[in-house]
Amino acid sequence: MAFKLPDLPYAYNALEPNIDARTMEIHHTKHHKAYTDNLNKAIEGKPEDNMSIEDILKNITNYPPVIRNNGGGYWNHCMFWEIMTPNGGGAPSGAVADAINSSFGSFYKMKEEFNAAGTTRFGSGWAWLCKQADGSLKICSTPNQDNPLMNIEGSCGGTPILCLDVWEHAYYLNYQNRRPDYIAAFWNVVNWEEVAKRFGK
Ligand code: MN
Repeated sequence: MAFKLPDLPYAYNALEPNIDARTMEIHHTKHHKAYTDNLNKAIEGKPEDNMSIEDILKNITNYPPVIRNNGGGYWNHCMFWEIMTPNGGGAPSGAVADAINSSFGSFYKMKEEFNAAGTTRFGSGWAWLCKQADGSLKICSTPNQDNPLMNIEGSCGGTPILCLDVWEHAYYLNYQNRRPDYIAAFWNVVNWEEVAKRFGK
């Protein structure tokens, strides 16, 4: 029943020049693969082997760090690949745009807050835009491979509709220490169609 490393929905070089092919290939075939393999190793022969990753994450405080780190790493990257696309960028429309405007005032303000969440996350982690139960949106960041699906303190909770990996492995080859430049480039590849799909669920 092991969890499977998904294929990328596009070629490794498809997000260039915003995210380079070498970074994408290493990120997918080494980092994401390692989270997947280590998660499978950690749950082998246990009841979790027959559970959904979401059901594991929502009770993550019952599990050892090896499952928290690799289960989070597995799920986070599955989402990350999908919310990017070579024909992405621009501005959202429809219900997502309405929710952004009513929650943050404008698309620009939302980006500012999301950029700050990613830039100020010390060390390694993720930035998130999450739909709350009342339909509004919140931004937060989490350390390491934690995410808003986990029953942990300090995240905005809700349903993640946009995420950004701010671990150095996500940008160091091309951007070195310039995390803000990587975050700025990320907006050029956001898959707003996928974000809208997640918002509509
Ligand atoms: Mn990563």
